Amino acid sequence: AHLDRIAAVEPDVNAFIHVSADEALATARDVDARRAAGETLHPLAGVPIAVKDIVVTKGMQTTAGSKILEGWVPPYDATLVEKLREAGLPILGKTNLDEFAMGSSTEHSAYGNTRNPWDLDRIPGGSGGGSAAAVAAYEAPLAIGTDTGGSIRQPAAVTGSVGVKPTYGGISRYGLIAMASSLDQAGPVTRSVLDSALLHELIGGHDPRDSTSIPDPVPALVEAARHGDVRGMRLGVVKQLTGEGYQPGVRASFEASLNRLADAGAEVVEVDCPSFDYALSAYYLIMPSEASSNLAKFDGMRFGLRVEPEDGPVTAERVMAATRAAGFGDEVKRRIIIGTYALSAGYYDAYYGSAQKVRTLIQRDFDAAFSKADVLVSPTAPTTAFPIGSKLDDPMAMYLNDVATIPANLAGIPGMSLPSGLSDDGLPVGFQILAPAKADDRLYRVGAVLE
Ligand code: GLN
Repeated sequence: AHLDRIAAVEPDVNAFIHVSADEALATARDVDARRAAGETLHPLAGVPIAVKDIVVTKGMQTTAGSKILEGWVPPYDATLVEKLREAGLPILGKTNLDEFAMGSSTEHSAYGNTRNPWDLDRIPGGSGGGSAAAVAAYEAPLAIGTDTGGSIRQPAAVTGSVGVKPTYGGISRYGLIAMASSLDQAGPVTRSVLDSALLHELIGGHDPRDSTSIPDPVPALVEAARHGDVRGMRLGVVKQLTGEGYQPGVRASFEASLNRLADAGAEVVEVDCPSFDYALSAYYLIMPSEASSNLAKFDGMRFGLRVEPEDGPVTAERVMAATRAAGFGDEVKRRIIIGTYALSAGYYDAYYGSAQKVRTLIQRDFDAAFSKADVLVSPTAPTTAFPIGSKLDDPMAMYLNDVATIPANLAGIPGMSLPSGLSDDGLPVGFQILAPAKADDRLYRVGAVLE
């Protein structure tokens, strides 16, 4: 049924870069046979899933949305993909994204843009617009995203889906094509809070192949999602993430959801996080700095594309330059240049060093806020889905859309976006919940009440 749905809507939505129909059907049939033979399987066995194309899948093309990796077939699975396969989830294919997950609209993909199923002239968010659109368009019941600055939560918000960025280290990064290693985290994109909990528990947990993986067991997320309860809980409304710059319809929807939580017994307090005003600036130095280093390996020698210079000698350096010039898109080049500049001798302290200090201040703001509140809440994004093309020529306007999601990545804490109803423009709004590190279960306990 999902493959039929994909065939029907993909010409409009373009959520997938690659559909793996045969493999998905083979897994589904295998699961059926094992169930028929009386085997007890994971509750998600047989439930198909779409995987963002920045997560490596053995034997299945993985492009990161870039021309530079076109045709690259990884020889191994990411740890999270291994877990999906072991549990018997058929992989429907790989979803579209902004090239190397850099963007907020899925317009920076080398494989065409994805459209928002709610309004095909609007963006589905980004970078994981493909995963969110696939879920929202009923092409897939579950999807995997990655969130470095909001790429799970913001697409979930603008497509009316649930998206969770786990605590940093909660899900193995082994097999994620790194964008900014200290910020990247994979997580679920689904239609319900309980589905996210099931998927999050399945793919979470310690992995010795990721040195930043948390050694503790995964918190009881499914249990929390089944027993939503906010009685006696303190919800901190972040002053810096609700005021100016937020679309009135977004604010109204946020207030309505907040009132529902208050009616369900939560206490609402206001918290002040003054350093958040600098979060965007710090992120857009740290993220390009790490990315410029991580992307150095795409040199035309090891993976995917290799372009030889049109004339003159074929030296290693000239092949690298020709390959990178042809293989990377404008946004990726912009960030490599910013990152290389920020890390260069003489500028390091002024840019990267200062940004890291701001990062510490943001972590301290969170610590102070979590001494007054059990979870923090805000709209997920300042606007609903914007029209395709409207911010493409203005990187600053595009970056501003990440203002509410970025602080969580800088601090490593978990966050969820879930549907908060519709704005006055008829488009979905996301409600964001943030919890202290390793307290991901709180997201589900609160989220389940709003659903
Ligand atoms: N929109 C942000 C950026 O462009 C976040 C990306 C992400 O989370 N992968 O960097």
